[in-house]
Amino acid sequence: MSDVVKGVPTDEKEHRNFIENIIADDLKSSKHDGWVITRFPPEPNGYLHIGHAKSICLNFGLANDNKKAKCHLRFDDTNPLKESTEYVDSIKKDVEWLGYKWDELHFTSDYFEKLHGFAIELIEKGLAFVDSQSADEIAAQRGSFEKPGTNSPFRERSVAENLELFNKMKAGEFAEGEHVLRAKIDMASSYMCMRDPVLYRIRKVHHHRTGDDWCIYPMYDFAHGLSDSIEGITHSLCTLEFQDNRALYDWFVENVSSPSTPRQIEFARLNLDYTVMSKRKLLQLVEEKHVDGWDDPRMPTISGVRRRGYPAAGIRNFMNMVGVGKQNTVIELSILEECVRDHLNKTTKRCMGVIEPLKVTITNWDREDLAIDAPFHPQDESYGTRKITLGKEIYIERSDFLEDPPSPKKWFRLGPERSVRLRYGCVITCEEFVKNEAGEVIELKCKYYEDSFNGQQPAALEKKVKGIIHWVNAKEAKDVEVRLYDRLFKHENPGGLKDYLSEINPDSLNIVNAKVEPFLAEASGGDQFQFERMGYFTVDEKFFGEGKLVYNKTVALKDSWKKSK
Ligand code: ATP
Ligand code: MG
Repeated sequence: MSDVVKGVPTDEKEHRNFIENIIADDLKSSKHDGWVITRFPPEPNGYLHIGHAKSICLNFGLANDNKKAKCHLRFDDTNPLKESTEYVDSIKKDVEWLGYKWDELHFTSDYFEKLHGFAIELIEKGLAFVDSQSADEIAAQRGSFEKPGTNSPFRERSVAENLELFNKMKAGEFAEGEHVLRAKIDMASSYMCMRDPVLYRIRKVHHHRTGDDWCIYPMYDFAHGLSDSIEGITHSLCTLEFQDNRALYDWFVENVSSPSTPRQIEFARLNLDYTVMSKRKLLQLVEEKHVDGWDDPRMPTISGVRRRGYPAAGIRNFMNMVGVGKQNTVIELSILEECVRDHLNKTTKRCMGVIEPLKVTITNWDREDLAIDAPFHPQDESYGTRKITLGKEIYIERSDFLEDPPSPKKWFRLGPERSVRLRYGCVITCEEFVKNEAGEVIELKCKYYEDSFNGQQPAALEKKVKGIIHWVNAKEAKDVEVRLYDRLFKHENPGGLKDYLSEINPDSLNIVNAKVEPFLAEASGGDQFQFERMGYFTVDEKFFGEGKLVYNKTVALKDSWKKSK
């Protein structure tokens, strides 16, 4: 958590985006007394996804950068039907894991009393009324972009009558849907959101924090801006789809005795290719069991990518790289993977793990097993070394042998009469291969060269041996479960499809039994390694907690997806 560095104050540095420009101007003019107070306002109706991480990095980042600055975590819990404490807890955990600390923790439900007071105030000013029409009737009167809406027949109720009805709504005297409270603004406004929006509706449901105290609940638009105002938020950052709602946001703040005047600023949301990024769709994937829970390592949720092994710093770097703008774009998932790879390259030990093992017998190996000191990091001695042994029987990667390989100029690995070097070991030449009844190669018989250790070219071979492959000693190798992941969706833009479920990649999870160096069987949940030539792998924390060792492939060493496209 403590790895977030305090940044340079916004007014003292080159600005990275238009929001920093606005804040720098505000700091110069001492607007808000030089304060920058932001908030991250999730609705606790699902787990956070990578898109939310953009908003988290932006809001908390601004608070970290500036001296007189705070960032609140506020749960916008106005819709009790879909919310739960499970979601609240997961969101807190994710924000902390990303490396941020909220200065204040709030719940919109803590403001229910105040918000109710603001509603009464609007009624008293003649700016709100109780409508007794059904939701369908109200919708039918809304009009369209071309056509103004129609006033409700209840719009001219007296203040006294409105107050009485609203009180009865609150007291639970009406059924759900019988009445709503609406603002009285302008049914002809070019902003649809200004056409007498609903402020309160009756919902006789239990709320995860306020229990059965309330049976009327405020609508998001009404509650959101006024909660910002109650908290003294200076810059209320939200995504572009709220642009039109800004008029309403400002109207609420202006028309009640709100304690402060926050400014809403919209920025483009993060979209990733091959990814769906809406809580509703992610919930569907979970509920219909297309994935194994919100934290399935294939999910674009923060809990999913954490389990998969994405480091928080890699995600923060990615957000820095994509920046904050006003144009909706789709970012390649490969760029996020590159940031993950970049970070893991600096932080992981190297080791050898054979994902798809093929047995090799070194026929002329008539000596004791050889102990080798292998470095954990080829470029950084501080990582130290570990002992590995080489013996008569080893496993190599199945894909490092081809029965009928291309020319030696193109193929540097094994084939009949072809030679390679074993990493940290000697050179071997394949003299024979054994097949089973199904015609699969199940074993190679190779010879080794005594004079080829320590990188020496064996005297018996004319051509220089170029290829180096990884391997493990069969005698000491441990079996571990490895989970290989591919994109969850085959389609580049699954979120844009009606039937996005049909684009789920059936091969997104592949469970294999790998042969690895012995120390890898002693690793703990969350430990990360580079399996040389194969990628970065992370011990699954959840399975580890259940007493099972599973390695998740976090990311490949190279972007193979792009090439295959
Ligand atoms: P979804 O659209 O996935 O259902 P949401 O916007 O309904 O998400 P909230 O809990 O309301 O989810 O979001 C909390 C905050 O995160 C909001 O300020 C919202 O603008 C921001 N946010 C959500 N998705 C993204 C995204 N893809 N990129 C950037 N910010 C996002
Ligand atoms: Mg939302």
